Amino acid sequence: MRESLIYFKNLKLALEPIVSTFLTKDSLFFRRLKDLDLALEKSRSALRESEAFDFCRACGAKGGTCCGEGLEWKLRPEEFFLNLCLFYWKKRSLILEDFQENTCLFLGEGGCKLELVPLLCRNFFCRELSDFLGIKKLREIQASLEDEAKVTFQLCEYLKGRLRDEGLL
Ligand code: SF4
Ligand code: SF4
Repeated sequence: MRESLIYFKNLKLALEPIVSTFLTKDSLFFRRLKDLDLALEKSRSALRESEAFDFCRACGAKGGTCCGEGLEWKLRPEEFFLNLCLFYWKKRSLILEDFQENTCLFLGEGGCKLELVPLLCRNFFCRELSDFLGIKKLREIQASLEDEAKVTFQLCEYLKGRLRDEGLL
């Protein structure tokens, strides 16, 4: 089992028991989590409408991917916690497994499994995708990502202190 799988499985075990407490007892956090969900939907919709998702899906079908092994380490513990919260709220579960060798741990059959991806992934547009989109669409997508980045930053700053107090970071 690769090191990152062991790390994230252990982190999941440590963090999962406090997810429901954050959602039910911390109304400020829950309100901001819903803001994050809206911001994520906004950027997803910009990516869908620009056909960036389809372009990347076609690239994946041809064996191409930019989701290489090790990129899972770019996801910070606070961002991982936010993912657990979003999954729990949506009554889904984040399955951690070695799906394929030499790829990011979070890559599944249908693409990235995460609700909230690391900053690096959010801002990555390879040359082919950039050329396909063109400057105008690229700028529109980048503008749509601003809310997501802002709310994620605020939530992570808040969580850093809270999770440290709980002895979980
Ligand atoms: S960003 Fe580029 S390399 Fe990555 S999946 Fe999309 S087209 Fe392929
Ligand atoms: S988009 Fe998801 S699967 Fe791809 S590298 Fe980033 S976290 Fe990993």
